[in-house]
Order: sequence, then C-alpha cells, then structure tokens
Amino acid sequence: MTLSFTQLNLDPNIAKALQACGYTQPTPIQSHSIPDILGGKDIVACAQTGTGKTAAFVLPALHRLCEKKAGPKPRVLILTPTRELATQITDAILKYGKFMRLNLVSLVGGMPYRQQLQKLSRAVDIIVATPGRLLDHMQAGRVKLSEIEMLILDEADRMLDMGFIDDVKQIAKATPANRQTLLFSATVDNKLDKIIKQLLREPVRVDLSQAKLSPVKIKQEIYMADNVQHKTRLLQHFIKNGNIYKAIIFSATKINADRLTRQLHGEGHSVAALHGDLKQNVRNRTIEAMRRGKIQFLIATDVAARGIDIHDITHVINFDLPKFHEDYVHRIGRTGRAGKSGIAISFALPDDGRHLQGIERYIGEKLVLSSVSGLEASKSFNFNAAKKKRGRRSGGSGKPSYNSRGFKGGTPKRESFGAKKSNFKEDDKPRKTYARSDNTSRDDFKGKRTKSSGFKKDNFRSGKPKKTFKERYSR
Ligand code: AMP
Repeated sequence: MTLSFTQLNLDPNIAKALQACGYTQPTPIQSHSIPDILGGKDIVACAQTGTGKTAAFVLPALHRLCEKKAGPKPRVLILTPTRELATQITDAILKYGKFMRLNLVSLVGGMPYRQQLQKLSRAVDIIVATPGRLLDHMQAGRVKLSEIEMLILDEADRMLDMGFIDDVKQIAKATPANRQTLLFSATVDNKLDKIIKQLLREPVRVDLSQAKLSPVKIKQEIYMADNVQHKTRLLQHFIKNGNIYKAIIFSATKINADRLTRQLHGEGHSVAALHGDLKQNVRNRTIEAMRRGKIQFLIATDVAARGIDIHDITHVINFDLPKFHEDYVHRIGRTGRAGKSGIAISFALPDDGRHLQGIERYIGEKLVLSSVSGLEASKSFNFNAAKKKRGRRSGGSGKPSYNSRGFKGGTPKRESFGAKKSNFKEDDKPRKTYARSDNTSRDDFKGKRTKSSGFKKDNFRSGKPKKTFKERYSR
C-alpha cells in the first residue's frame, strides 16, 4: 500500500511542516499505520528504528490535537524508555508541529525538576515521558491524566526489558479506559503480548519487522580480529581509508570508550565519548555537536546511543559486538537514516563465533566475513568457546540472561536489594537505591568509575588543527 501524504488528509499545518522537512512520501510504517490510527483504532506496530516510526505516531497525534480546541489538561501521552528517545520524540513533535500552537512538556529522568514544574504549571497538550519521572509527578499530584485521549508506548519491548512495565500499567490505569492506545516495538514476544491484551482493545497489528530486521540500505561487514590490539589496528585502518564522514563507534564498556576517545583525539581526530557516566546535559551537547558536524567520531556505549537521530552518519563501527542481538539492529540503525545508505562494520574476536551466529539468526541473514589485506586474523572462530551469558534479551527459554540494567538472570529480585520498585526507575530522584539511577547498561558499571577522560566542559575534542573535517569530507 503506497499512499501519499495528501491521501492521509493530515491537517494543513502538519502537511506544511512535512513539506518543510522535505518528505515526499510516507514510509511503509507510516502508510500502514497512520490511516488506522486516524480512524481511532488501537495499534500494535512492529517496526525498527530508522523506519520513520516516530512520525508514524507523532503525525496522527498532532492531527488529533488540531481537531479539537485544547483544554488545560494533557490529551496525548507518549511513554518511552530512555531520555535520549524522549529527546528524539520531542524534537520530532516540534518539527512536525512547528506551524501549530503546542504545549509540550518532556518529563524525563536525569533532568532538573525546575523546568518541568514550570511547564506543568501551565496548560499542556502533549507529555513525552519516561515512566519513572512521570510517576513521580503523578504521585505528587502535579499531573492529571484524566483527559488523555491517546496513550503511545514507544519501544515497548525495551520498557519491558528495563523493568518499567509495572509503572507503565500504573500510568495507563490513571488514563481513561476509552483512550486510544498505540504500541510500537521492535519485536513482540509472549510477555509483551500479555501486556498488549491488558492495555489495548482489539488492536490492528502492523508488522514490518519480519521483512528484514536490518535496514536494507546498510552494508554490513564483519572483520575478524585476534585480540583488542588487532581491533585497534583495524579501526585505525578504517578511519584512514574508510571514507568516513561521521561515525559512531560502539564500545562494550565506558572505560574502553574513554580509552578509544583519548586515543583518537591523540591522533588528531574530532571525537567525543557518549556513555552513562556523563551528565545528561553533556550527552545532549555531544549529540548536538555531532549533528552540527563539530565532531566526526562518537565513541558510545549502547544505552547512551539509543535514540540518536543524526541523518548523516555514514558508518557504525562495532568495536565490540553488542551483548544483545537486538542491539545489533539498533546500533546499525544509527546509520542509513531517512533512506540514506550506510556502512556497518563489526569486529569479532575468535570467541564471538556463536554470538555472531545468534545475531545472524536474529536478523535473518548471513553476515559476510571480510578482511583487510595485511590485517588478516591469524585465528579462526572457536565455536566451542565457553558460552558467554549473552544473546537475546528474551531468548529460547524466554528468560533474559541479562536484563538491560545488566543484572544476571533476568530482572533482579527487588526484595534482594532491599529496595522497592522505584529503585529501578530511570530517573534521578534521590532514593535509597543500589541500582543505578540512569539509563546506563551493565557495562557502564564495570571497572572503576572513571572521572571521564579529562574532557573539558564540552566533552568533545576538536583535534589538531589540520584540515577541518568538513574540508576533508565535504560532499
Ligand atoms: P525514526 O524511525 O522515527 O527514528 O526516523 C528515522 C528518520 O527518518 C528520521 O530522521 C526522520 O526525520 C526521517 N523520516 C521520517 N519520516 C520520513 C519520511 N516520510 N520521509 C523521509 N524521511 C522521514
């Protein structure tokens, strides 16, 4: 079904904004889901990041707001697992709603309360929130959800993984039963299906996940490395010869992210780290600097990089393979944005053989092993290597080996931490807690806590003043 934006009959102010964005046609997830959403149906949409899924729910939500005069209470609520995703959604709302009068508030953890409280003291149309922070505001009586017409759950699988689902249910309970509910998720397993049955009414299912999980325009290459030093040499090779315009380099740990950042900076590159030890405003500035072309290489850990939407990232380099298969898809989806092509390069160690097979099974395609002349590995895959605890978050048995907070063996037993449910929230409210209070992954806990890598305020280094990176890579 190929529809045009005109056929979707969106409010003229939204159509004007889409024109200003240069969008000529809805993406498949948009043309498959928007008509039903506009028709008031509940929707379960399986779509990966990079497919235009944010606009698939933001456009009809804005259309609904255009239809009726606004009251003081919020009418649309969007829940999302991470701050970065919330920022991406907020940006999308501002972009598509730029010709509308909108009162938008973003209630996310890790951000100061003051601004949120100020915004909540006025009329609000749309709330974009992470569950923990929203619950805090609800419990303090600052947010009333009694007029919510549309509840949108973005990356629902992730919210389930992160242990937020009880919060989500509690929030949903506070909204009217006759609301419209939209649920977007990369995958839907049995657990999520149960939630869908509880929260949605006869949803229409749109599944674009099976066609191919990896975005089609991304060329994927795997390079075998004997050890970390070998990986570093490969990385240097691609940085020199790979014709990279902008790249995100994924590291398994924060310490390595800092190490690689220092190293690339020492070699004269404009580079910054993005991981959970960095404050949210520093992370935001770093992403903005990357977007504006002030930095070329972002060295990131998984959770910190989720939700980054920079349209001209040409390469994703998996210096370390992701621990979870689905993160492979999320990582490579940082390139090839908005229909552009991209290259995903992954380095694999001999013991990664089994894990790589798991990733191949997950994405439903074979990944071709490549090599660089003069940098070939001397070892081959050892498929008998002790099986590491990793793989799919909800694999075979349906039990995650690590949850996204990085606790072994699924969601940690709350009692064992002597903490109540809220200890697992994503925000920064001071609590007695043993769990980390932001969105960092398990690896972000590994090793000693570094005092970052001595970055200046802006966390990015501009490199030696050789030719600017724009001059070198202008295209
Ligand atoms: P998402 O999957 O929501 O992360 O979106 C991926 C990218 O696609 C974003 O940069 C959007 O601005 C862009 N995008 C969304 N819809 C369209 C469209 N219909 N045409 C072109 N680009 C789009």
